[in-house]
Amino acid sequence: FLYSREHQKEDTIVMVNGERIGNGDPHLIMGPCAVESDQQVREVAAVLKQKGVKLLRGGAFKPRTSPYDFQGLGVEGLEILSRVAREHNMAVVTEIMSADQIEEAIPFVDVIQVGSRNMQNFSLLNELGRIDKPILLKRGLSATIEEFKLAAEYILSHGNKKVILCERGIRTYETATRNTLDISAVPILKQETHLPVIVDVTHSTGRKDLLAPAAKAALAIGADGIMAEVHPDPANALSDSKQQMNLNEFEEFYSEIQHFLKRN
Ligand code: PEP
Ligand code: MN
Repeated sequence: FLYSREHQKEDTIVMVNGERIGNGDPHLIMGPCAVESDQQVREVAAVLKQKGVKLLRGGAFKPRTSPYDFQGLGVEGLEILSRVAREHNMAVVTEIMSADQIEEAIPFVDVIQVGSRNMQNFSLLNELGRIDKPILLKRGLSATIEEFKLAAEYILSHGNKKVILCERGIRTYETATRNTLDISAVPILKQETHLPVIVDVTHSTGRKDLLAPAAKAALAIGADGIMAEVHPDPANALSDSKQQMNLNEFEEFYSEIQHFLKRN
C-alpha cells in the first residue's frame, strides 16, 4: 500500500503555505465550526495569529446531521475565509462535501478537508486524488483504522501524495463525551503509515473542559497537530455552540498546551 511504511520509510511532510506538516514542530488548526460572517472570522483570526497559529479552519459547506440546521455560507464563506487568512498570512483549511465543489473551492483553499461523514465517499476521494492540493482526511464516525488507511489509499493511488490524517473520535457506547477519542490511533497510524497525523479535540470530546488535556495527550503521543474550534461568541454560534472555545478560553487553552508545541 502507498500509505505504508514498507512503501515509504521517511515521514511525508505536507507543505502548506510554507509550513511543514509532519515530523517536526506540531501545528494548530483553529477557527470557528462554521464561517458565519466576515466580522466573526476576523475576530477569531486576529487572536489566533497573535499566538502564532498558521492554519485557519472554518466550514463553508457544513455536513449537518439535520437538513434544517445551518448548512454554511457556501462560496461566500470561502471568500470570507480566504480574504481574512490572506491578510494574516494564514492558510485556509475547509471542508468540501462533493466532487463538484472542488473546482469552485480550489482558488480559496490551501487544505481541503474531507469530513467524517465522507471518509468513504470514494468518488470524492478519487477526484481529490487527481488534484495538487493537500487533503485533510478525517476518520469516519465508525471507521476502523484499517478502513481509515484504505480511504487515504484512494487519494494516494490517484496521484495526490499530500494527505494528512485526522483522528476525530469514534462512536462507542460511551456517552460522557461526544465521541470516544481513540488516542492509540495516533501511534498506530504513525507506525503503519508515513502520513502526518493530527487530532481534532473538539469533535472527539465535544467538551470544552477536555480540550487541553486531550490536546496534551495527543501531542505527547506523537500527533503532528491539533484541530479545535474557536468562536468569538460561542453561545450564539450557528453550529456546535456548546463545544467551541471563546477567545479567552482559547488563550487559556494555548497557554496550557504551548510547552507541548516544540519538538525539535
Ligand atoms: C468539522 O471539522 O467541521 C466537522 C464537521 O468535523 P467531523 O467531520 O469530524 O464531524
Ligand atoms: Mn463543528
